[in-house]
Amino acid sequence: MKKILIIHTGGTFGMVPQKPSRTLAPGQVQEQITRNVPELEQIANIDFHAAFNMDSADMEPVHWQTLARLIFEKLPEYDGFVIIHGTDSMIYTAAALSFMLKNLHKPVILTGSQRPISEIRSDARMNLINAVELATYDIPEVCICFGVELFRGNRAIKESSTDYGAFLSPNFLPLAEVGLEIYIDEHLLLKPSGAVELRPEMSRDVLAIPFFPGQRPEYLDWLLESPVKAIVIEALGLGNVAVRDPSLVNMIEKLTAADNLVVITSQSRHGWVDLSRYENGKRIAAVGAIGAYDMTIEATIVKLMHLLGTNQDGVSAVREQLLTPIAGEITVF
Ligand code: ASP
Repeated sequence: MKKILIIHTGGTFGMVPQKPSRTLAPGQVQEQITRNVPELEQIANIDFHAAFNMDSADMEPVHWQTLARLIFEKLPEYDGFVIIHGTDSMIYTAAALSFMLKNLHKPVILTGSQRPISEIRSDARMNLINAVELATYDIPEVCICFGVELFRGNRAIKESSTDYGAFLSPNFLPLAEVGLEIYIDEHLLLKPSGAVELRPEMSRDVLAIPFFPGQRPEYLDWLLESPVKAIVIEALGLGNVAVRDPSLVNMIEKLTAADNLVVITSQSRHGWVDLSRYENGKRIAAVGAIGAYDMTIEATIVKLMHLLGTNQDGVSAVREQLLTPIAGEITVF
């Protein structure tokens, strides 16, 4: 049987079903899993590690680093890893791990649940069983297993705060479907080349701002005095923002002149950013804005944190690397 390490980090999965939800001690979570899902033993040889036990909204880069280091260290010992994680920030952790563990050649599968495992109508049991089973396959990626689908982690978004199918991958097909049979779309999987590499460095000098009609660009003037290095603008459609005066164009120009990166993503979750399509997009591209193409907002934020953290050569190197895939987070034609 394959050897799988289940790493617990927290979230609803192991909470006490009451309002507001209360977190169980890590040992109690393991006990709950053994009691509620004893059949896991039929799928794999399982070890359990309690990394932390927190609401995933409290996750920070230091927690991603702890997880990446733990997995990197344990890679020779296990065939696959399952991370039990709160659903709220699961896509950020998944993206971070996908960038920190370059050339990963084993599955790292994040899962969680909308209802605690001890509740009768909980989705935790099935999500965990599916995640553990999928972790026994040859899937060399950081993924999210939720509901009946397996997604590339850095392509997923949390689409619903209430549905049992909480996640979507708007720009990349699911890697696997779990029905009567497990169907893995092999040709979509990453093909690692070379040895796995740990790159846990992360910068926090990144900020994301949604654009909306009527937004006052002067409210962003403070950005020019701040240590922020990369600003992600969540724009409209193909990457449009207002360009009539007073506009964001001047702000973007000043920010890029001061050696900051301004990266344009879209509030439209499906599709891509193309700054050459409309005059508005062209105006911001002309003053230095970069379109994030089909990367999700969240993957773009985490990739910037990673690139700023790992690059000694500063912002110009990050600008060059932003649109090059690290772990399949962006489509290349
Ligand atoms: N607030 C919880 C968390 O992300 C929600 C969940 O797990 O579904 O930790």
